[in-house]
Amino acid sequence: MTRSKYSEEFVRDYLEQHGYKLIGTYKNTFTRFLCVCPNGHEYSALFKDFYHRGIRCRKCASNQKYTLDEIRDIYAKEGCTVINPEAYKNRYTVLKFICSCGGHGETTLQYFMFDGIRCSECRAERMRQTKRNNRVKRANELIGDKNGK
Ligand SMILES: [Zn+2]
Ligand SMILES: [Zn+2]
Repeated sequence: MTRSKYSEEFVRDYLEQHGYKLIGTYKNTFTRFLCVCPNGHEYSALFKDFYHRGIRCRKCASNQKYTLDEIRDIYAKEGCTVINPEAYKNRYTVLKFICSCGGHGETTLQYFMFDGIRCSECRAERMRQTKRNNRVKRANELIGDKNGK
């Protein structure tokens, strides 16, 4: 897995094609950068979310109304199946879904998209992963220090 396969130019162009503007520094797909959405909201984005998952400005998204098909798509992209998309009214509506791991979950569309909330089993796994990643990060920082970086 390459850590940074998109150049800053690529990211800048891609954002601009979608009416967004990069205003911060782009490091890699895993690091947040500041950008401005077409409606002038400033927010920090992850390029992998923007590019692969179609995640856009959170403020705009919370005003946006989704169709049934769009909702099904959002879940399908993540390998999940939404059970009651017809219940959707707004960002506060809790939707039930079958998680990519086969478990059952329920949360609002907003949380699902932006906070990556899944079923309780996945949430526990994610916390374990975050702890592992933090350990790796600390180790890398120590190595970086030794190299006088
Ligand atoms: Zn916006
Ligand atoms: Zn799950």
